[in-house]
Amino acid sequence: MKGTALANVPKHIDHFSKFSPSPLSVKQFLDFGSTNACERTSFVFLRQELPVRLSNIMKEINLLPDRLLAMPYIQLVQTWSTKHPQNTYIQSLMEILEFLDKNPDDQRVLETFLEVLEAIRNRHNEVVPTMAQGVIEYKDAFGQQDAVTDHNIQYFLDRFYTSLISIRMLINQHTLVFNGNTNPAHPNTIGCIDSMCDVTEVARDAYESAKLLCEQYYLGAPELELRQMNANSIREPIQISYIPSHLYHMLFELFKNSMRATIENSEASMTLPPIKVMVSLGGEDLSIKMSDSGGGVPFRKTEHLFSYMYSTAPRPSIGDKHRAPLAGFGYGLPISRLYARYFQGDLQLYSMEGYGTDTVIHLRALSTDSVERLPVFNKTALRHYKLSLEADDWCIPSKEPLDLAVYRAAK
Ligand code: ATP
Ligand code: MG
Repeated sequence: MKGTALANVPKHIDHFSKFSPSPLSVKQFLDFGSTNACERTSFVFLRQELPVRLSNIMKEINLLPDRLLAMPYIQLVQTWSTKHPQNTYIQSLMEILEFLDKNPDDQRVLETFLEVLEAIRNRHNEVVPTMAQGVIEYKDAFGQQDAVTDHNIQYFLDRFYTSLISIRMLINQHTLVFNGNTNPAHPNTIGCIDSMCDVTEVARDAYESAKLLCEQYYLGAPELELRQMNANSIREPIQISYIPSHLYHMLFELFKNSMRATIENSEASMTLPPIKVMVSLGGEDLSIKMSDSGGGVPFRKTEHLFSYMYSTAPRPSIGDKHRAPLAGFGYGLPISRLYARYFQGDLQLYSMEGYGTDTVIHLRALSTDSVERLPVFNKTALRHYKLSLEADDWCIPSKEPLDLAVYRAAK
């Protein structure tokens, strides 16, 4: 890449970060990708929207604590230099900007754009492990952090990964819809969206994969009990317009967690209690509850489970591709929650310590309500990073005031 082009990068980032991303609904994605799909329109939209989404999040990377930014792995994402030629964000931004002055009516331009998008998607696949490794390095170097730093990292990574998910979504839709290959096995699928996504079928698939992994690791796995309630039409299967791969990701992560808890909580001689899944469809919500008898976690720790800085599992060794670990970086729950929230849903975990855990995924039943939830870089976001450590406005119960102790002793 030329030096002059590189020198202009900050200017481009400033320019594009002034625009807010344009969230799309599942309905819009579907309509756009169906019969009258127009590659030219999609190209014109993406060459503006992708730089906007990339620039908005690049602005935030720079607000991370200096000590975290200094970590070698994070630098792969943050800075561009000849030493780190694989810098993902700047390279991708520059590649898309090349198309700004290209003619959308030229078929060759559209073809090259498709290739560039595919390369970008592959390159961005490395971002999550890279960031995760950066956070590990940071934890190893500096140990337990203060609450403000923890908050900033959590706040940033939630937004960063959401942005990543959204960029992948845009790229997937464009490349899958316009690469000319339709999938005859799934006629209801447009790009990566299935307009008749069968929720219980995805749940079964996710269970089977988790079970295989679990059996490999523990030599056994709990059974699945799956029930459903379609309030709109009792006899019909539950189908929604959704991205099966997102749903699969969430359910697979939840199954792995529930299986691990169930097995580690039961005596070797006992039969394993099953994992129960209930799927229900109402007018507004599609909800999936997974219940296990894996002993649960204390209420105090529930929120920690969604932290990128926390996992109770032994750390998997990087590069060990032979065995996919059942638990690893501690990203299962936080990333699954992001997938659920990405289209205005949520993921919540309720535990009863001593008994087990219920995890509930709430999704929007209507494709018009499933609208992308995207981070935008603005003053409110900036304020989050500038939070300072102030005195708590609730008393801290850990230490009794000295005088009171004396007073009690005197009584
Ligand atoms: P990863 O999922 O990235 O491979 P992980 O399983 O440790 O690693 P999470 O899925 O985010 O990460 O879960 C975080 C922690 O929450 C787990 O380590 C485990 O201690 C606890 N946890 C999650 N689900 C359950 C559950 N169903 N029952 C008991 N503990 C759970
Ligand atoms: Mg997990």
